[in-house]
Amino acid sequence: MHDYHIHTSLCKHAEGDINDYIESAMDKGITEICFTDHIPLPDGFDSEHRMSQKEFRIYLDKLETARLKYRQMTILTGIEADYIEGYENYLRDFLSNYTFDLVILSVHFIKKWTDKQWVFSYEYTDRTLMGQYKDYFDVLVKGIQTGLFDVVGHLDIIKRPNRPVLRSNSREVERVLNAVAKAGMCIELNTSGLRKHVKQLYPHMDIVEMAVEKGIPLVLASDAHRPDEVGDFFDDVLNELFQYPNLKLAQYRGRTYTTRTMGQPADE
Ligand code: ZN
Ligand code: FE
Ligand code: FE
Ligand code: ZN
Repeated sequence: MHDYHIHTSLCKHAEGDINDYIESAMDKGITEICFTDHIPLPDGFDSEHRMSQKEFRIYLDKLETARLKYRQMTILTGIEADYIEGYENYLRDFLSNYTFDLVILSVHFIKKWTDKQWVFSYEYTDRTLMGQYKDYFDVLVKGIQTGLFDVVGHLDIIKRPNRPVLRSNSREVERVLNAVAKAGMCIELNTSGLRKHVKQLYPHMDIVEMAVEKGIPLVLASDAHRPDEVGDFFDDVLNELFQYPNLKLAQYRGRTYTTRTMGQPADE
């Protein structure tokens, strides 16, 4: 079992050092983890919630040290990279300058919205909710089409409680999934939504089902910001996933993946 979305205290809003997360993973029987702390951005953008360039190099060093210390754990190097319109060249340079196992595409900010308003902040812009959902998915499609990323992070993080995105914006969701399939990317099954007010997976299982039908592989992701959150709710989620015999889980190495099929042969 793997967990492919883990933060560390280097991003300034998570608790615990790399070693604390590794030990928590070992306690939970997870054998492969990918650290994906928040990428440094230019112009000091949102610098209070992410690594600086200097901290990013410390992050790489710490991962290297941890690999030597915890040989029984597979420790992958990842990054949660924000897609923000206008930063494509910066991202292309940054991502090509280092060696990663996996790069998560996350849309946390919409450029045309109020500056630095997180998409999940629940502060409403002057757009209708359906319009906000549309803005978000439009930016997500653009991000996917850049070809810069591997895995779509928390795909429907824009959703508000009791306002399912598929009810109002199924067409945009369909576009996102088609773009993912075309790009050969994977999507996360991110359990952090279960810890939040919305109390749902990112994305909703209905969207997971659509992804499975399109042959899109999944990865498991806790989005842990505290060591005890590693592998959060994975047992429940895995039980649900067994319902989908065609569901593929991806395993990443050096930004490429292999898949294995989740389902067991049906009893006959
Ligand atoms: Zn974070
Ligand atoms: Fe995120
Ligand atoms: Fe994250
Ligand atoms: Zn995240």
